[in-house]
Amino acid sequence: MRASTLLILDDDGNDAEIIASEAQTQGFEVRIFDDANLFMAAFLAERPSHLAIDILMPGVHGVSLLQTLAQHQCQSSIILTSGIGTAALPAVQLAAIQYQLNIRGILHYPFHQHILRNMLSDQASVDLHAHTGNGLSTQPLIVDARTIDEAIRNHEFTVFYQPQIDLVNGNVIGFEGLLRWNHPLLGIKLPDLFIPIAEKTGQITQLTQIVIETGFHFIRSLGTTLSFSMNISANSFRDQSLTNVLVSACQACDLPPERVILELTETATLEDPEQAKKILSRLRTEGFKLSLDDFGNNNASMTLLANLPFTELKIDKSLVSTLEASSKSRKVIASTLKLAESLKIETIAEGIENTLAAIGLRELGCRYGQGYYFARPMDQGTALHWLQGWNRQF
Ligand code: C2E
Ligand code: MG
Ligand code: MG
Repeated sequence: MRASTLLILDDDGNDAEIIASEAQTQGFEVRIFDDANLFMAAFLAERPSHLAIDILMPGVHGVSLLQTLAQHQCQSSIILTSGIGTAALPAVQLAAIQYQLNIRGILHYPFHQHILRNMLSDQASVDLHAHTGNGLSTQPLIVDARTIDEAIRNHEFTVFYQPQIDLVNGNVIGFEGLLRWNHPLLGIKLPDLFIPIAEKTGQITQLTQIVIETGFHFIRSLGTTLSFSMNISANSFRDQSLTNVLVSACQACDLPPERVILELTETATLEDPEQAKKILSRLRTEGFKLSLDDFGNNNASMTLLANLPFTELKIDKSLVSTLEASSKSRKVIASTLKLAESLKIETIAEGIENTLAAIGLRELGCRYGQGYYFARPMDQGTALHWLQGWNRQF
């Protein structure tokens, strides 16, 4: 394989030039093609280190092109380029898993220079669906009881949705709801900034209520099968009224509790295992499913799984992100999957950022997955649009 060579397949000369000039400043030798046959011929002759492929070229079928590359044992790092909202994207992503290609990421026009730079460099792969509104501001945000209260009253808290995928057949099985603070001046803010404080002040109860109300309606509007996963803090978990709140919310929007998965971390359950058992059993009796979130992130207590009625185990992204490089991680994941299987507990992995992770997990026997590789958490409108595009492919 030739180091630092990049072949670009793109029918838009401008787009190709932008990629080419960035690559050249990084020392790449670059050639541009607008004809897929010539591109393939050059690939076979040169075996370049990198490829940039426009998946939406007239007369070229993106999936078949990937298949041909795979048949020729393509080892190149591949950057897929496309316009925003390209309907063919899911099929191409899934094909990349099937064919075990090394996809570095998906570049949506118009793209940011630094994203491309990242993909060309040897750093971890990035898939920036930047247009889904995850943009971060660097300005400070004052987070205290007063500002949270104001934000609740102004309806600034909102729920983003990240799809969960069946790694075997590519079906979407559900969405996880993740809180966002849509600040009028600072933009979208992530939960790490405000959840710990809301837990201290007790306002987490109101935030959980927002996720329940918004999320249940959204998932109900999507039909009768998809599940909705939501996070429950330790404090909310101890709140005696939680079960009743969940049950009434399900009744109010005609959502069977079986479609709701409550994600809990070990801290929530470890503090008072006896009390936890009571609450969890009650929730299970009502039909709610229970997921042990962030499994493998700290000193996971396997006995929790044996003693408490969890229905799902969520493999933490710290294990998933090291799956490729660390045989230890692979072993931990493998034995975790075995344990779950013997306990008849479902397994889902989070933090899948690239094809290799998706392939690796599927090979180890993990059935479900979630991560930037498939989609970032998205606002409701974007999530709906994304789901329609994905489903059109299957
Ligand atoms: P979590 O429940 O483990 O959620 C997964 C986190 O991983 C999310 O971060 C998600 O955006 C991120 N993620 C998803 N795919 C990838 C990937 O491929 N790579 C990487 N590096 N990260 C990925 P987010 O949305 O910032 O949430 C962080 C944590 O905040 C959540 O972790 C959860 O513990 C908490 N949280 C979010 N929403 C709520 C909520 O409504 N209630 C409570 N109590 N906690 C929440
Ligand atoms: Mg979670
Ligand atoms: Mg997690």
